[in-house]
Amino acid sequence: MNLVLVVNAGSSSLKYQLLNMDDESVIAKGNCDRIGIDGKLSHKVPSRGIAIDEDCTFPTHTEAFEKLVEVLTTGEGRVIDSMSEISAVGHRIVQGAEIFDKACLVTEEVIDRIDALSDLAPVHNHPHALALRACTKVLPKGTPQVVVFDTAFHQTMPPKAYMFGLPYEDYKDLHVRKYGFHGTSHRFVSQCLADAMGRDIKTLKIVSCHLGNGSSITAVDGGKSVDTSMGFTPLDGIVMGTRTGAVDPSAVTYVMEKRGFTPHEMSQYMNKKSGFLGLSGVSSDNRDIQEAVLKGDEKAIITSDILQYQIKKYIGAYAAAMNGLDAVLFTGGIGENSWEVREAVCENMDYFGIKIDNDLNRKTRGKLTKLSTPDSKIEVWVVPTNEELLIARDTLAVIGK
Ligand code: AMP
Repeated sequence: MNLVLVVNAGSSSLKYQLLNMDDESVIAKGNCDRIGIDGKLSHKVPSRGIAIDEDCTFPTHTEAFEKLVEVLTTGEGRVIDSMSEISAVGHRIVQGAEIFDKACLVTEEVIDRIDALSDLAPVHNHPHALALRACTKVLPKGTPQVVVFDTAFHQTMPPKAYMFGLPYEDYKDLHVRKYGFHGTSHRFVSQCLADAMGRDIKTLKIVSCHLGNGSSITAVDGGKSVDTSMGFTPLDGIVMGTRTGAVDPSAVTYVMEKRGFTPHEMSQYMNKKSGFLGLSGVSSDNRDIQEAVLKGDEKAIITSDILQYQIKKYIGAYAAAMNGLDAVLFTGGIGENSWEVREAVCENMDYFGIKIDNDLNRKTRGKLTKLSTPDSKIEVWVVPTNEELLIARDTLAVIGK
C-alpha cells in the first residue's frame, strides 16, 4: 500500500488524514485538538465504523504527534503496525509568499523559511513550523515530508492583479501584496471541472467560488490563477462567517479611532466578530442565517443579500478580466450545500447567459453536478473539494512516486 499522511496543523490543533493512494481512499482521519490547553483526540476509521474520543495532554505539537503515532499503530483505532509503512507526510502550509510557488520536500532550511514568513501569516505559519519540527522529531528517520502551500497556485497572478495602490516600497520592503489563499482547493476543483466537462483545462475560463467559513473566488484562465478575491491575508474579498471581506481602509482607521482599538484588537474585530456574525447578530454559520431569513429576520436577510451580491459581482468582474467565461463552479461547505445561495447568485444573470435548473439545484448537495440547463451559455457546476487528496497527490509527485 502507498500510504500518505496529510497533516493540517494550526496553533492549537493538528488535523490529519491517512490515505491509501492506491485507490485514494481514507483509512483514518481525526484531530489532536486543544494543543497547549489540555488536549482532545478524535480519531475515526471509516471502514470499520470506529470513532474514538479521548481526553489527552498535549502541552505542545510534539505530544500531539506522539499521540497520533500511538493511535495509528496501537489499540482499537490501529490501522498500521508502524509509521515506517507510511511513504510520506504532506503538510498544508497557508503562506508560501513569493518564495514557494510549488510543493517541495521539507528540509531544516525550508522549515526556517516557513517560520520566517510568520510576519505575513502570524496565526498560521509559526504553528506550521512548530508542527513540522515536532513531526520530524517523532517520525522514523528518513520518512520524506512535503509542504504544499495555499498561496502557490496564485503565484501565476500578474502584478496588475496582485499589487495594491500603496507606495512601491511597501511591496519591496514589507512584501505587502495580494497572495491569495485556498489555492489547493481552487486548483483541485478547477481540474475536476475540466475533467467533468471533458475539456482540456488549458482551453477553459473558470470562476471558482470556494464558499465556506472562509470564502474566496478565483479567476482560473487556462488552468492558471489570474486573480483571486483574498488578499494579503485571508481577510479580503467577500463577506465570510466572522471575517469582514473587503472594507474601505478609511472605515478601518475610523472605527479604530472611535472605538479606541489597538491594531491587534481591530484585527480580531475584523477577523472574529464581523462577517455573517457581526452583520446578522445571529450566527457565523450560513445554515443559521438561511433559517433566520425564512423567519423574516431583517439583519439576516441583509447578510444573505450581501453575500449573494458580492459573489455575483466577482463573477462579472472576472468574466471581464478573462475576456470570457466558460463555467462557474461552487465548492466549500456553502457552495456544495446551500441551494439558496447558488440560486440567488445565478438569478438575473441572463445578460451573461447563465441559466440553471432550479429543481436540480434544490436537490443538489455535496455531489459533482452540472446545474446549468442545456441552453445556458455558461456552464454552472457544483464540484466537491478535497484538499487533502490533492496534498497527498502532490506529496507523492514531489517524492517521485
Ligand atoms: P466549510 O468552511 O467549507 O466547512 O463550510 C462551512 C459553512 O458551510 C458554514 O457556513 C455552514 O453553514 C455551511 N454549510 C454546511 N452544510 C450546509 C448545508 N447543508 N446547507 C447550507 N449551508 C451549509
